[in-house]
Amino acid sequence: MGDKMAIQQGVEFDGIVVSRRDYKERDMLVKILTDKYGFKTFFIRGARKRGFKLGAAILPFTHGTYLGSINDDGLCFLTTDREIAQYREISQDITLNAYASYILGLVERALNEQQLVVEGWFLKVQKALELIDEGFEPAIITNIIEIQLLQYFGVKPHLESCTVCQRTDLAFDYSESYGGLLCQAHWHLDPNRLGLDQRTIYYLRLFSVLDLYKLNSIKVKEQTKMALRQTIDEIYNSQVGIYVPAKKFLDQMSTWDQVLKKDDQS
Ligand SMILES: [Zn+2]
Repeated sequence: MGDKMAIQQGVEFDGIVVSRRDYKERDMLVKILTDKYGFKTFFIRGARKRGFKLGAAILPFTHGTYLGSINDDGLCFLTTDREIAQYREISQDITLNAYASYILGLVERALNEQQLVVEGWFLKVQKALELIDEGFEPAIITNIIEIQLLQYFGVKPHLESCTVCQRTDLAFDYSESYGGLLCQAHWHLDPNRLGLDQRTIYYLRLFSVLDLYKLNSIKVKEQTKMALRQTIDEIYNSQVGIYVPAKKFLDQMSTWDQVLKKDDQS
């Protein structure tokens, strides 16, 4: 760490294109989540010119291997791409797009470069997007990421056992003031516990330890999905308190969904 290499030239890295915006007349600033340097913003000269050679490489939700120059604390530069592909379903479906954007936004807020690179979060995010692109339930993949990110926001819910007596054989509920589960024998300690059903508790516990790389299939009832969404929103709103723009869109979509379903039933 002693030497002062501000710019590393000609480095190869894996990346996922997160977002981009126009810059000046013909250029673009493209944010890429990289496997070696975390989130980096690349200055792409001439990106908006017709026939630009890296055009496909900087489309949103493109991922692959890139070559470029990495600036520790400034803009980076792309030289070329080696092997790229796009998460096609995510890029074409507005709902999947919103889930993927929310995951990326949340990860950016929660994790520093060290955690992204050394603790394997780059791979985890890559896997999450891959699963969503392959048709796994995006709400569930998102829930898993949300639960596993909580500790980086300074909230580490105790989900292994009752926070008071460590029992695991009674029904559980979730208590925000105790920071985790309460067994039935201790429910009286918190009148404001969330009143969750056992199925929701089961998934909260499962999601906190689940390895996305070992996920083959997961089927969660619609009602439980809604309870999970409400519970995680409650924990995030009261204990995390961050704002990721894509989340607002997801919330609006789920409201429309419910309105449409009610119309169907009537
Ligand atoms: Zn207890």
